[in-house]
Amino acid sequence: MLPPSVMARLQTDFGDWCHSGLSIMEVSHRGPEFRAVAADLLARFRRLLQVPANYEILLLPGGAQLQFAGIPMNLAGQGERVDYAITGHWSRLAAKEAQRYADLRVVVDMHDTHCRGIAPVDAWDCSDQAAYCYYTDNETVNGVEFSSIPEGIATDLVCDMSSNILSRPVDVSRFGLLFACSQKNLGPAGLTLVIIRQDLLARAPSPFTPSIMSYALQQEKESMKNTPVTFAWYVVSLVLEWIEAQGGLAAMDALAKQRANLLYDYIDSSDRYENLIDPAVRSRMNVVFTLKDASQQAAFLREADTAGLKFLKGHVAVGGMRASLYNAMPVSGVERLIDFMDAFG
Ligand code: PMP
Repeated sequence: MLPPSVMARLQTDFGDWCHSGLSIMEVSHRGPEFRAVAADLLARFRRLLQVPANYEILLLPGGAQLQFAGIPMNLAGQGERVDYAITGHWSRLAAKEAQRYADLRVVVDMHDTHCRGIAPVDAWDCSDQAAYCYYTDNETVNGVEFSSIPEGIATDLVCDMSSNILSRPVDVSRFGLLFACSQKNLGPAGLTLVIIRQDLLARAPSPFTPSIMSYALQQEKESMKNTPVTFAWYVVSLVLEWIEAQGGLAAMDALAKQRANLLYDYIDSSDRYENLIDPAVRSRMNVVFTLKDASQQAAFLREADTAGLKFLKGHVAVGGMRASLYNAMPVSGVERLIDFMDAFG
């Protein structure tokens, strides 16, 4: 969900933005009005994530999955080794895509144990010869989240933060590159945030890399090699303004823990529901759970939907239920879900 105050602001801006007589949907991306939005957006990202001066912020078209290809295309030479940690659905897909462009090595695969935990990093089979080591900070489908940035990896870390970006403070200087699609904590779908250390821009992309996927070119063109999704950029700038007004990433983290703990505590204390994820790596953003009596699942989802509790069906890859608790979800939303779960059956 988006913060209600952002939704209200959008309704006004949609017809008459900043008393200009124009909608934000109508202005040119090259005009001064939109340029100001873009500058504001970049400044807010830099402030909120404390992005160091030697990192560039790119806002790229396509979703996170375009980066599954863009990363090996830009960062790995042909035939060069790249290391991937597979901890769930999205890292597995990222590895599958990277395999088309580089010498892919899977350094750990948690599917052997149903992706219910994350093996310690010193058990990963990493090489200091790899172009980078890739992992997914929060596995949206599986409900598994790294509790901290992996330590002791000799190559550049590349991280998919699509589903937990801006939910806690992060030390950007630990990464070569991190990226996130916009449709979770940032706003509506449409753009992908890429934060990249400047020296990596000097790596020549593989010859068939489309221009709009070249990090160096996009950096040179201020992420406007092609027409940006202006509306999404604008909505994200409003969401970042909202996050800053709430107290920034420390406040988002506190809220995320409060929401998730409330739900996990309820599930753990219940004899009707269960969550089998290792408590050390349970996601603060996506709480997966099942009914111990699986035959009740369809009725659970139907009745929840009728009660206004939407989108609780787990991803097709894993089934069960999933409560996505992104930044804008108030604690009262979780309380409502728990009341429903308690009354069900
Ligand atoms: N990575 C993660 C962690 C995701 O949650 C998602 C989308 N749910 C993706 C990648 C893919 O994003 P997109 O649909 O923007 O390609």
